[in-house]
Amino acid sequence: MVIDNYGRLINYLRLSITDHCNLSCLYCRPKINKKARCQILRLEEIIRLVRLTAGMGIKHYRITGGEPLFRREVVYLVRELNQIKGVEEISMTTNGVRLAQFGRELKEAGLRRINISLDSLRPDRYRQITGGDFSRVWEGIDEAINLGFSPIKINMVPMKGINEDEVEAFVRLAIEKGLGVRFIEFMPFNQDRAAWNKLHLPIGVVQDRLSRLFNLKPLNGSITGNGPAEYYQIEGTAGFIGFIAPLSRGFCHRCNRLRLTPDGKLRPCLERDIEIDLKSPLRNGYSDEEIKELIRKTIREKPHDHHFHEERTYQRAMSAIGG
Ligand code: SAM
Repeated sequence: MVIDNYGRLINYLRLSITDHCNLSCLYCRPKINKKARCQILRLEEIIRLVRLTAGMGIKHYRITGGEPLFRREVVYLVRELNQIKGVEEISMTTNGVRLAQFGRELKEAGLRRINISLDSLRPDRYRQITGGDFSRVWEGIDEAINLGFSPIKINMVPMKGINEDEVEAFVRLAIEKGLGVRFIEFMPFNQDRAAWNKLHLPIGVVQDRLSRLFNLKPLNGSITGNGPAEYYQIEGTAGFIGFIAPLSRGFCHRCNRLRLTPDGKLRPCLERDIEIDLKSPLRNGYSDEEIKELIRKTIREKPHDHHFHEERTYQRAMSAIGG
């Protein structure tokens, strides 16, 4: 069991396995932005880090990116991680574009929980926000349902004047398809503050609106996972919704996570630019114990809270951290 300096239990690691993404979401950024292959952690390096962290008490792993389904060996990775002692749960966050193609193999490899990002139910608007093809994601969602992934959660970032008018439609989607929808507050990465301010919608505004329209009952348990969302069942249905409000509500006091970047930096916080390099140690013959000490050092450096409220320039795009 790992407890940080502020008494938080650290049991969750996000693995960003590539910075490559085929979409270009207006709040995130790159379409095809890539580090050289040699800068990206090899699969055996990721697997070794999972083995070491699992031995230290990390139980939950999420594969993300960039777009994780753009890394060919992702199915192999899921299969290997599933066999590591101490790994209790593997999940994935994907834009869904390649999910219809890979869903079955991922399921067979042992993936159960999946989050799919979708910011609009209107194909033309979806293309404006992401540059992508809505129908591919829609097929991916249907395939995930047919294959029995559970839970399936849709990530939606509501933005003022862009897609905020669709939040009710997303709740209806949750009801119709019996899945979860999470409303994620827009975080100020890569935008100047004026641009961010124009689009930022405090998640409480969305919650108030939806609470007036639907009967929402607080939800706890295995479906809710290990993250920062506050979940509600839509009463009388199998659908549920979640609210993630890193700025307007803050949840650093219960943050349980670390993040591994595609190029092998371990980060104790999404927002702060604190990172400890593990790639060079992995490639320079460090022992398991020496690498574990670097992981402990990262945990010791986990800050008390994020500083999203301060305007600053970020060293990395979200796609290079693993959102
Ligand atoms: N490519 C995958 C996907 O699209 O789900 C995984 C990576 S993406 C960075 C992970 C999640 O971060 C997505 O659900 C996306 O909506 C969210 N995200 C990215 N930038 C964000 C921002 N500035 N504010 C809020 N959420 C953001």
